[in-house]
Amino acid sequence: MNIFDTLSNLGYGELHLGHDAPSGLRALVGIHSTKLGPAIGGSRIRFYDTEADAIDDVTRLAQGMAYKAAIARLPHGGGKAVIMAPADLQKWPADKRADLFKAFGRFVDHLDGRYITTEDSGTSTSDMDVVRTTTKHVLGTSIDKGGSGDPSPFTALGCRRGIEAIANHVFGKPDLKGLHVAVQGVGHVGAHLARELQQAGCKLTICDVDPARRQAIAAELGAAVVDVDAILEVECDIVSPCALGGALTEALVPKLKCKAVAGAANNQLRTPAVGKALMARGIFYAPDYAINGGGLINVAEEFAGYNAANARKKTMAIYDTIAEIIDRSKREKAQPEVITDRIAEERIAAGTHTS
Ligand code: NAD
Repeated sequence: MNIFDTLSNLGYGELHLGHDAPSGLRALVGIHSTKLGPAIGGSRIRFYDTEADAIDDVTRLAQGMAYKAAIARLPHGGGKAVIMAPADLQKWPADKRADLFKAFGRFVDHLDGRYITTEDSGTSTSDMDVVRTTTKHVLGTSIDKGGSGDPSPFTALGCRRGIEAIANHVFGKPDLKGLHVAVQGVGHVGAHLARELQQAGCKLTICDVDPARRQAIAAELGAAVVDVDAILEVECDIVSPCALGGALTEALVPKLKCKAVAGAANNQLRTPAVGKALMARGIFYAPDYAINGGGLINVAEEFAGYNAANARKKTMAIYDTIAEIIDRSKREKAQPEVITDRIAEERIAAGTHTS
């Protein structure tokens, strides 16, 4: 791996290495850019086969966060941290894990606020509480320590607003009444989204691999239930992937019977070719990182002293973001995900998040 070519190809930036022998910390922080403001992004802890894998992960993820922050109109650049987990991490006692996260906090602190961390896969609110003891540059701590709490209601709100923009600007409908939405996965975000949609008058079909969860949500909302293999092929207006990434494949696109795809899951398109196939079939795709930014908007609100009403107001603006993507996609005859990257790149290049 040529590290500087990797950074150059992704438009970087800075890559920092943190090592602390007593705690066993081996961590990397990628700062894509601070042009729009301090870089923001989670810290993930996982086992990597090689250091090159960790570098690849942290640089790609930080670039993704830069685009996500820019499209969410946040005054932040994109950053990410990866902590290379030792093979026996699961067996570590709590005090040893705490020492690791204290050392990680010191590493983040040395970056002097150019990178602000928060939780990500493998890390938790309680890990962030530990990080808080050695740096102030951390968000997503527990509520009693000034944190903003569960992001999923905000992510769901943003998805509902994105779906409203699609209803209006793609289907020509003033509201969601009577729209049929098929929700794949009714976990944290999917359940909140299903509630928002039901209140707005949508007809719902849901699925979940967890039988108790799908039954509870179906009973609460009067939703129809289908098998997990059938949900994406339900005849409906909108399919909403809210489970795992990579749900949309080239083989699936010809079988879709919806007019749009709009959900919270990250990395919904298995390959870039899927986006092209969706556009060729006239199915509108709401780019995942644009529609699912409510959780990031909410946690970023902690930066200025958390205010839930402000976070809600900013999340509501995801309607405008999706409307802008629809409009430019039509005018520039390009796929929505291509337009979304273009808008993010324009904002980063111009150094403004408000354009
Ligand atoms: P979650 O784990 O709470 O919910 C996922 C649900 O999907 C679970 O109920 C699970 O049983 C179900 N599921 C898993 N595989 C499935 C399958 N093949 N078919 C149907 N159901 C399946 O996760 P979440 O926090 O609700 O996040 C959902 C997605 O949204 C994830 O891709 C996540 O990365 C993304 N996302 C979440 C947030 C947030 O605020 N939580 C923010 C941005 C993006």
